[in-house]
Parts: sequence; structure tokens; C-alpha cells
Amino acid sequence: MDARKNLSTVFSRAPAGLEAPLVRVEVHLGTGLPAFGLVGLPEAVVRESRERVRAALVTAGYEFPQRRITVNLSPADLPKEGGRFDLPIAVGILAADHKINARLLKQREFYGELSLGGALRETRKLLPALIAGAKRGSEIILPAANSLEASLVSGKLRLMNNLDEVVAALGGRAAPRPAALAPLPAPDPDQSAASDFETIGALKAIADIADIAEIRGQYAAKRALEIAAAGDHGLLMIGPPGAGKTLLAQRLPGLLPPLSEQEFLEVASLESAAGRRPSIGGRRPFRSPQHTASMAALIGGGAMRPGELSLAHLGVLFLDEFPEFPRNALEALREPMESGMVSVARLKQTCEFPARFQLVAAMNPCPCGYAGDVRGRCHCTAEQIARYRSRISGPLVDRIDIHIELSALPVQDLMTDAPQSAETSATVAQRVAAARELQLQRQGKLNSRLTPVEVARICAVAREPRALLATAIARLGLSARAYHRVLKVARTCADLGGAPEIRTLDVAEAVKLRALDQPKC
Ligand SMILES: [Zn+2]
Repeated sequence: MDARKNLSTVFSRAPAGLEAPLVRVEVHLGTGLPAFGLVGLPEAVVRESRERVRAALVTAGYEFPQRRITVNLSPADLPKEGGRFDLPIAVGILAADHKINARLLKQREFYGELSLGGALRETRKLLPALIAGAKRGSEIILPAANSLEASLVSGKLRLMNNLDEVVAALGGRAAPRPAALAPLPAPDPDQSAASDFETIGALKAIADIADIAEIRGQYAAKRALEIAAAGDHGLLMIGPPGAGKTLLAQRLPGLLPPLSEQEFLEVASLESAAGRRPSIGGRRPFRSPQHTASMAALIGGGAMRPGELSLAHLGVLFLDEFPEFPRNALEALREPMESGMVSVARLKQTCEFPARFQLVAAMNPCPCGYAGDVRGRCHCTAEQIARYRSRISGPLVDRIDIHIELSALPVQDLMTDAPQSAETSATVAQRVAAARELQLQRQGKLNSRLTPVEVARICAVAREPRALLATAIARLGLSARAYHRVLKVARTCADLGGAPEIRTLDVAEAVKLRALDQPKC
């Protein structure tokens, strides 16, 4: 038999962060003792993939060729994860064995992990591949279980349940044993590769339904949250346990405008690249990593996987117990806070992910949490308090526009059944949206992103507010950077009030929002 006739090429893509480079899966059936060799995947992955492909073909009723089978995935130096290549390998074997017309494979791409029974299972990290494949104009064949990701992409996408459907779609002969078609994969919490997909996290669910009207009192903090939302300003809340810092932070996404279609696709791609099922609804992300999280979990890494900073892209990154985060983790925040990107170094290459998050940080006023408590519960020394606060001092705090102090309220006083009089998130969100629109029309960006040169032009102040500003600078000893931040926040306060010029009251409010710069009494 002519060896060339037993060759097939199937296209797929490898997961590489937000990119999805094309992979050629070449299958050759040769003479010699029956064998099944797989080149281009890590050994452990190869073993499992080989077993699944063989079992899927046999169980679905196809004859497994008793030949010397060689499968080559190229290029060789791409990071490849096994499961998604099961279907392309199986299709390649059938095409090389003339069960499918090999010419039909050219304009198509194939994705999907196979169960031992030939069913197509939900496969991770597919969205970037689907976007890239659609851009190339390919017809993409993928598991029906990935319909959520498929729904986000416009292109020629065909959802399939099992190997038989794929073969039928390619005009191949159906397996001779139609009654034994594998059923849809049942959820298998122990074995399914897709089972550790994170379902929508509890915190995210809270953020989706939490309304600011449920928080009683804390008017100053709510106002600070509104200003932060309106100007995209970073926010640091300092207060004892029970002051409602977390409750407030969870309500920030509800004050922000919904994601645009393009932004939503960016967020969904990052979730997919992290191996998560994209969340739906267009709400901005709310991520709340613990201070015990590893650096890889925070900034990304591993198999080109985005971390928490990128999963918070275009949404809110909430860091509770801010000073407890390791110094290198806090340092890692600085780059994305400036550039909106985070670089992840792998062995030889660097991978970049977007990470334009809005930072909300929370901390206790002292190590025990009760400094300033009227019942005198705090016994921290001045030195202990100073050391605690110094962990977050310097360049990082300098980059946070707004800091506020909150006082404790008993939880039963904090949460209400949303009385008629309380403002809802929807009402506040309208004011926020109007203020953001003003900024975009005036300067094409939100106030927090203004450069020093732009601050001088856009945040100019008239004589009276300037006098107040001068007094505040002298009294608080503000640095040049802090001075710029006060001006930006004052600009946002004016925008919320619909004022074309920064007013004295705007400057007064912005100065009050620098709690860490206030003289200690
Ligand atoms: Zn204390």
C-alpha cells in the first residue's frame, strides 16, 4: 500500500494564555507491528490521551487500525495540554484509515476531550482558540458542552455531542453500532477533567445581587465608594472588624457601568485562559484573593494561566487585610496599576495579560483591629501601630487615590431590609455613569488615568479653591504625587455635581478623602 495515502493532517490550537497558536496534528498509518506513538505532548499526557482515543474509537464501534500509528503534533515547542487534542487525533486516525475524506479537514479546526465511550466532554481554555479560529475563517468543531464559550464567538461553530456526530458531519460512515452511542457525559465529580471548573464563585454571586441600599449608615463611606466608581479611583478603607468594609467593597461592581461587548469578550477570554467557565451577564468581575494566595495565583504563571490580577481586569480587585499580603505581592500590584498589564515570566519567555483592575483595599487601624475603640479594647503600642501601617506605606499607598476611615457599627445596625428612603445601587450607578461620560467626552479617559500634564490642564482650580488647596498642602505636607491625586479626585467630585469647574467644596471633599495624610491627634 502507498504509505502517502495513509497520511492525514488535522488542525487544532494550543492554549497559550490569551493566544491560541495553530497546531497541526499529523497522523500516519505505517506498516510493521501495531503500535500507537504520539510525539509532541508531555509523556503523562500522551499515555492518557492514547487510552482515551483508542477506547473512544473502539467503544463507538470503529475498527482501530492494526497498524503502526504515528501522531505528531507540531510545532513542538508550544505548551500543549492533552485533552483538547483527543478529537483531532481520533479524526486524524479515521481520515488516515479512509473512514473520512481527508480533504474535508482543511478549512476546519477540531477540539475536544473524548470520554472512553466516545462522548465529547467540556474542554478547558477554549475561548481564545475559538476566537482565533473564527478569525481565520475556519469551521470549528467542538463539544456541545462548551456551548457557553461558543455563544460568545460569531463564526462557523458546530457543537457536537460525540465522535459519531463528528464523523457523520464529515460525511463519513457512521459506526455500525448506533444503539451503543455513548450518552451525554454525566457529571462525574471525581474523574471529569471539567469538574474542577469553578462555578460562579460565592463572592461574585453576592456582588451580583448586593445592593448598596442594604447598608445602613456609613454615608461617608458610601459617598467615597461613589466617587471611586465615578473616577475609577483606587480606594483604601481603614476600620475595625464589623465596620462593613467587605460589604461596601462587594457593592462597587453594582455601581459601575456594565461591560461593553468587547470588554465582556476580554473578560471571558481571561476566565477561559485561566481554565474557568466564563461567567455571564456582563457584570464587572469582583475578585477577592486571600493574603495567603501564592504569587502564581495572584499574578499568574504556571501553564500561561492568568492570575487574580487579570481575572479582576475591568472589574474590582478587593484585597482585605491589605498589610497581611507579602511584600512581593504588594510590589506586584504596582506595574498593573500603572500600565494595566501584568507580565508573567515563564522558563524562557514572558507572557503578558491585561490587568486593568480597580483596587479596593481594606485594613484594620492596628494589629488587633480596635485602635480608637471607645471601650478601650486596643492595647497595641504606638510603635506596633506604626510598624503595622508602614507595611503598606510608600509608593503603593501613594498610588491609591482615596483613603477613608470607618468606625465600627454592630452588624445588626449595618444591614437593613432596604428602607424606601435608602438609595439603591441603580440610582447611584446613574450618577456614576453620567460623571464617567463627562470625563470620556472631555478627555477620552477617566480621571484616575490623567497624566501630570493633563492634570495641570484639566484639573485647573480657580482662586478660592486654590487657596484652600494651598492651606491643605501646607497643613498635611502633601507630596507632589498626593497633590495630583487630590486634584483628580476633586475633578471627579465636580463631575458628579455636574460642575464645569472644580469648586471649593470639591477640593474640601477630596482633601478629606486622604485619611492617611491627616495629622494624627
Ligand atoms: Zn490594637
